[in-house]
Parts: sequence; structure tokens; C-alpha cells
Amino acid sequence: MSDQETKKPESKVDDSAYSMETHLIYGKNVSKKWDYSHHVVPPVSNSVIFRLDSVERGAEGFADFANMESLQEDSQPIYIYDRLGEPNKDLLEENLAYVEKGEMAVTFATGMGAISGILCVLTKTGNEIISHKTLYGCTLSLLNNWYPRYNIKNVQTDLKNADNIDLLVNDNTRVIYFETPSNPNLDIIDITAIRKKVDEFNKVRPEEKRVYIVVDNTFATPYCQRPLELGADFVVHSLTKGIGGFGTDMGGVVIGPKRFQDMLLIVRKDFGAVLNTKSAWTILTYGLPTLHLRISRQMENAKKIAEYLSGHSKVEFVNYPGLPSTENYEIAKRQMSDFNGNFAPGSLIYFALKGENIVETREHGRLLMNYAAKNAYTMTLAVSLGHTRTLIEHPASMTHSLIPAEKLLDYGIDPGGIRIAVGLENIDDLLFDLEKCLQII
Ligand SMILES: *Cc1c(COP(=O)(O)O)cnc(C)c1O
Repeated sequence: MSDQETKKPESKVDDSAYSMETHLIYGKNVSKKWDYSHHVVPPVSNSVIFRLDSVERGAEGFADFANMESLQEDSQPIYIYDRLGEPNKDLLEENLAYVEKGEMAVTFATGMGAISGILCVLTKTGNEIISHKTLYGCTLSLLNNWYPRYNIKNVQTDLKNADNIDLLVNDNTRVIYFETPSNPNLDIIDITAIRKKVDEFNKVRPEEKRVYIVVDNTFATPYCQRPLELGADFVVHSLTKGIGGFGTDMGGVVIGPKRFQDMLLIVRKDFGAVLNTKSAWTILTYGLPTLHLRISRQMENAKKIAEYLSGHSKVEFVNYPGLPSTENYEIAKRQMSDFNGNFAPGSLIYFALKGENIVETREHGRLLMNYAAKNAYTMTLAVSLGHTRTLIEHPASMTHSLIPAEKLLDYGIDPGGIRIAVGLENIDDLLFDLEKCLQII
């Protein structure tokens, strides 16, 4: 197809003047990736294989795969087999790269697929990763249970203080890995401060020994924070959470510099954590276009809940990046902002119940959870986050239940800590249910 794509409406509109909110609705809805210019909603591609007109076309397709240099900016991809690439994922990736202000995005089957994908590209045996002491449970398991088998070492520290890296970085270090806000306790890590450190280390390192910063931005979503603008090299997301937004599909993505796209595509092809077309379509059609509406409403609710909890007699402390009493509030204010520059502290809250000792506080958490599960209409006892419904969980007796009580604090988990992933409900209903729950302990 060399003659005329000029027919496509895309070329007629200069969309640079429009806001991100609008962009997420329209996206690149007419894309060079797929010619469906008369559809308003992109169709779902339900084909694993693609017909090749000739062996020459097949050869060209294989030569183009994971070879960005051979693909011109506006040439149409030759699709061969879903695991290598297909239109629904490509369309979603264009929009995800755009919303995170990155050069490229590669999607994966899940958030864990994306995390293991980028770490697989950046490390090899003998290397080391420095990570924050508090991490999503499966990331922790990946780094501490699996990577040692491949002789890749994970060194955990408190990255809230960037100086802690100084003593840990060595010749083998390749990655600084963290979540901000972190799961589940909402630690805030200063991305720019870590960038400054890493720039210093990299000054004296050859290209192949560079240290890269990978930030898991799942909690904030790009609506509240764009880590690449703040100095991260790569952003990873679980699309299963706030970006997907409805709890219907799993997905993951890595966003970062163009020169890593080929390697990520090859990792995805060979390890096989491919996002399925229907999930890509759901996230593209429902998740991204409603992101700003959902997260801004959740955030409005979260602010009120955080304020209510911080004045409550049964509550020891509240971590919410929008509360001035939260550690690193000033950093949160600097790095978390919506598309229009307003402070956007997100929709997750972590608070701890009071108790005489760790055993009692853990028990209080358990009691409150079980009471809520039976009696609170607007609070669903479940893992995950970024849903239309408010989801609550008690990490000490659920996601982190395998960690002994006395060790929980080493991982930043309070025995009585409760995570609320705020949904879209009416705020009065949420406060009504919370009060009822807190009364029972
Ligand atoms: C859920 C989650 C993941 C993993 O994502 P999946 O899609 O469940 O694989 C990674 N990081 C964070 C912060 C998460 O909340």
C-alpha cells in the first residue's frame, strides 16, 4: 500500500491542541496499525493468524518483527501471528505510550508479565537489583524466590531516603526498582532524587553497565503521576487495576525508550506473556477513555475518607498522599499531579488500627475485615484496586499473611494496617459503612 493513506481523516486534524482527557477518548482512533477508518469503536481482532499474500510478504514480516529500524514511522505492520503482534494490542500500546509521555509501550498478559519482561531485558546472571523494602507481594516473590535461581540478587532498602542507594550500588547493579506510592502502605519515593543519584553512577559506567530506574506506577495511574517526566527510565503498570478500571480483564505494560522496544517484543514472544486481544480491546474501549472520570471521582471520595479516618479514635495513623501528616507529603505534592497540573494524590488509603500490641492489632484488622465482608454494602473484601467498587483488604492477614507478625514491620506492613482502594460510590454511603465497621473493634 504505497499510494494513499491521505484518504484517512487522521492526516487532516492537528490534535496537538487538545487536552489529554479528550485524547484518551479519541486516542489514535484511526491508526496506521489497522485500517478501520469507518468504525467509531475499533473492532476486536479475533484472529491468531494473518493471511500472507506471498512468501515474500511473509519474509518481510519476519524481517520487520522487533526491528523498528526497518519499519518506517508510517509503514503498515505485516501481522503474522498473535504472539508477535496484532492490531488490538498495537492500538492500545500507542495510547498507553501517549498517556505516560513515553516513546513506546509493550503490553503483556498481566502486570507480573510486564515486570518480569522488563527485568528480563535489563538483567542477566550475576547482576543486582536494588528495590524498595515494600513491594507488591508477587514482585517480592519474583525477586526473592526466583531470581536467586538465576544468580540475580535483589537488595532491599528504604528508598524513601535516596542516600541509602550509595552504599549498595556496585559494579553489578543494573536496576533500581520501586513503586510510588508503594503497595500496600503508600510510601512515597522521590523519583527525581533517585534520578540524580543514578546519573552520577552512570557518568562513570560504560553503556552495558548502566543503571536503570523502573517505577511501578499502578497505584497512581498516569492520571495522577507520569514517572518518565520525573526521571524514571521505565514505567510498568498492572492494567488489571486503575487503567482497566472495571475488574474484567488482566493486563500489563512497560513504557519507556524506543530503543528497548525490540527487546521487549522478543521477550514477550519467547516467554509468551501476551495480552489477549479481547482484553486489549476492553482496556482501549472502556478503561482509558474513562480514566480521568473514574480516578477523579475516586480521589474526591478518598480525600474525604482519609480526613474522616485521621480524626477517628480507633485509628493509629493514616497514610494518604493528600494528607499533610503523611510522610513525604511535600514530595507527593511535587510529583503527583493530574493532566492539568492539579495535585492528584490518588485513590488508595492505608490506615492502621490501634491495639495494645502486634497480636491485638492484627486481630482487630481480622475482625474488622470479617465484619465488613458481611455487613458493609459498599465495601467489598477483595484484593486488587482501581475498581468501580470500593475494595478493602488487611495485608497482615491476607496478601502478606505468610510473613510472621514480628517481621511484618521490616516490610513496612503494620499488623493492623488496612488498605482501602476507593471506588465510585456515594461518599456518604462509604462513610456510613466505615463508621459501622470501626464501631465493632
Ligand atoms: C496488581 C499489581 C501488580 C501485578 O499485576 P497483575 O496484573 O495482577 O499481574 C503489580 N504491581 C502492583 C503495584 C499491583 O498492585
